[in-house]
Amino acid sequence: MSEAGSRCYLCGSDEVRPLYEPAKPLGDSYRIARCPDCSLVQFSPVPGEATIREFYARYDAAGERESYFRRCRDGYEGSAEARQLERKLDRIAMRVGSSPDLLDVGCGGGAFLDMVRKKGWRGRGIEVSPTAARYARDVFGLNVIEASIESWSGEGEVYDVVTMFDVLEHLRDPVEAVRKIRNRLRDGGILVLEVPNQEGLLDRAAGVAYRLGWRKPVSALYNLHHLFYFSVRSLSRLLRDAGFGILEIGQDSTYVGRVTFETRLLKWGSWTLLKAGQLLGMENKLVFMARKEGTVPLQAGGKADR
Ligand SMILES: [Zn+2]
Repeated sequence: MSEAGSRCYLCGSDEVRPLYEPAKPLGDSYRIARCPDCSLVQFSPVPGEATIREFYARYDAAGERESYFRRCRDGYEGSAEARQLERKLDRIAMRVGSSPDLLDVGCGGGAFLDMVRKKGWRGRGIEVSPTAARYARDVFGLNVIEASIESWSGEGEVYDVVTMFDVLEHLRDPVEAVRKIRNRLRDGGILVLEVPNQEGLLDRAAGVAYRLGWRKPVSALYNLHHLFYFSVRSLSRLLRDAGFGILEIGQDSTYVGRVTFETRLLKWGSWTLLKAGQLLGMENKLVFMARKEGTVPLQAGGKADR
């Protein structure tokens, strides 16, 4: 898709409809749009690399990443967040043999990889943030290379399991990234993906608030951090297009203690909606487990320009 285009990245449909005006200071040239055919929600057009680099440069300068990853490191064991990660690891363990090779894409400060290693598995990570990659290496002594999934070649590496939590929605070309991972998996290897659930209760409530004239929740959820917003339908399609068969579709909720909120109203409102989402089966995260299959279709619809 070109910067001026308005086609669906995933299925190529030109029927995408505006959903939200994005938050300032992104300007007027971008919309959040939804495809009625495959249900993918995306920035339309997909911003160029320079725009995204500039956004993250400002974000890093604000020091947000530093404190975020420090919270990963300090006393993570026994925390609610650690228990969430342990549950994910237990589900993966049910699908793989003993002592698999695991790659964690976007491993952050390394808490999950630390658990993987304690289980006796071989774990390796790639992480785009120098701060986080340094934490993972220096504090946990983990095998982590500083790279983006786009820049990582993985030449000669092969894995039984690849995990990618909260990464796919940040990428300009998520289909390409998943195909690349597929090439580094052994036959029958497992990919575990976690992404925000665009059809969860939190997003739906933000949409209702937006239509009533209160834009702040939508501005908090829809900004350049995330270029794509997936549902069960759109992520299923993406995985099939990239050569995976789906094994499990689950849900999870963000641990609110980890997130910084601008106001108490947003914090308690989010907490209430996340709890309600758990009760209603409309949580704010989707967790997909998929298995590498034999053949990959030639073309997966539209593509981001490079
Ligand atoms: Zn579509």
